[in-house]
Amino acid sequence: MRQLITDALIVTGDGATEPFRGDALIDGDRITHLGAVPPSAATGADRRIAAGGRVLSPGFVDTHNHGALAGTRVGEHGIPISCEMAVRGGVTKRICGVDGLSPAPVVPDQRAEYAAQLVPLDGMAGPPGDPEGDDPAGGLGWPWSTMEEFLAWHRGRSVTDLGMHLGHSAVRRTVMGNLDRVADEADIRAMAEVVRREAPWCLGLSTGLVYNPAVYSDQREITALVRAFNEVKQGALYPHLRSESDDIIEALDEVITAAVEGGGGYCSEHSKIAGRRNWDRFGDVASRLDDAAGSIPTLGNMYPYTAGSTTADTLFPPEVRAGTRAEFMARLSDDDVRRFAFEKIYGDGSGWDNFVAFCGGLEGVQIAGVLEGVGDEFLGKRFSDVVLAAGVTDMSSIEAHDAVCDFFLHNRGEVSIISHYGNEATVERFFRRPNMALCTDGLMPGPGQKPHPRSIGSFPKALRMARELGIDLTEIVHRLAVLPCEFMGLPSPALSEGADASLVLFDWDRVTERNSYEDPLIPPEGIDAVWVHGDLVHHEGQIQSPKAFGGRHLLTPPSESS
Ligand SMILES: [Zn+2]
Repeated sequence: MRQLITDALIVTGDGATEPFRGDALIDGDRITHLGAVPPSAATGADRRIAAGGRVLSPGFVDTHNHGALAGTRVGEHGIPISCEMAVRGGVTKRICGVDGLSPAPVVPDQRAEYAAQLVPLDGMAGPPGDPEGDDPAGGLGWPWSTMEEFLAWHRGRSVTDLGMHLGHSAVRRTVMGNLDRVADEADIRAMAEVVRREAPWCLGLSTGLVYNPAVYSDQREITALVRAFNEVKQGALYPHLRSESDDIIEALDEVITAAVEGGGGYCSEHSKIAGRRNWDRFGDVASRLDDAAGSIPTLGNMYPYTAGSTTADTLFPPEVRAGTRAEFMARLSDDDVRRFAFEKIYGDGSGWDNFVAFCGGLEGVQIAGVLEGVGDEFLGKRFSDVVLAAGVTDMSSIEAHDAVCDFFLHNRGEVSIISHYGNEATVERFFRRPNMALCTDGLMPGPGQKPHPRSIGSFPKALRMARELGIDLTEIVHRLAVLPCEFMGLPSPALSEGADASLVLFDWDRVTERNSYEDPLIPPEGIDAVWVHGDLVHHEGQIQSPKAFGGRHLLTPPSESS
């Protein structure tokens, strides 16, 4: 298959080459000519696309994505849903296993528990009773234990490329389960062993210090695991900070120190500052990141929105969430524990990331996903609406808290939220940083659910913001498509003759997101064509299902010495 793209504004993505007008010829999965295509090579091309001056660039990298499980489910347009959301935004590579929550490694006695924890974020690998047999027990039947086995299962289930981080919480569960305690020396040795075994299949080490069970870890443990990873290969630490709000500086120091002492790089994951009273602390955060950049390789990523999205588990203090899901649910049914959680959420609340506090109360917490058929009427509404529906008007009363607990329990804890914590000025300040890559942080919506608009809108919105803020096209394409690959140690996808034909064609003058929190699934405007390894999978708004789902796994080589 030979495809000719004529009269494009070619932006190679290397961050230096000035955009230039020209043609490109794709043969199979490669670019064979770029700039000038001799007529002899162009004749008889199987497909011709007239770019009319639109930008042709390497496909974008979604550096933080939750689409490795339910994202493999084939949607109504014939490709996996995570891939459909990706290519609508120009993304051809996704990085999963983020926030410490990679689906592997896993041990048999943790499989069901861990799968249940991941449902509000990554969904289930397949619907219950799926005739394909992927997941007949409804999330409980993962056929893998190691990352290598997970990748083998995943092969043929993605159109876009996939790279995996090794998740700290996954590793900790294999050794300590979901225990609420600091690791001892033997635990750390055992976890380091798992990290060394799994690292060859992973790009870096992720952690999520607000999520179970990494929330119970200390800096010593994180440092030891970074060191173990870097014994096998160069890899950065990709943390969700222990606090993105009141304690953000201490939280940054904790992980940057672990990265430096462990011998790895550092990535500021989904960069943000949560809570009105912290918005003026951008300068402190930025100077911490700049200091780190003086001693180790650093990168940042972000989704350009003032709200986040995650599991509603995070609404409750870490003490309540330990052990099995059944124990967590049972605690929330106990009046004394409810009172403890209430006092911690509405009291001083220091020492943990208090989502209700930094969202400015229950009005700031929106419901994005529920157990199908249970909480459906509250999709898109706020937790304050749940409270009002229970006949309670005082939003910081124990009765309001009871209504929240009851809703969570009725939905068996399968609730995802959109947390409205931020302001536009901070988003813009992070966005202007020159080493800021982009992500969707996209969660996988169940049928009829309302995911965060970032899942589709992040990349088109970033392009619009770059245009409006006067950020150079050369710079923004480098940041969206090439910079993260360079940082992770992957081959540069910058356009050249012989390069991989994973490409996006977009209209720089017109590209924009069109969706919203109310209507998150409206596709963007101006992302006009996307190729993955030469397959044109998205063209003028239409998804085209390729014959095979040929997404590749992004792997980095081990260090020479190991
Ligand atoms: Zn996160």
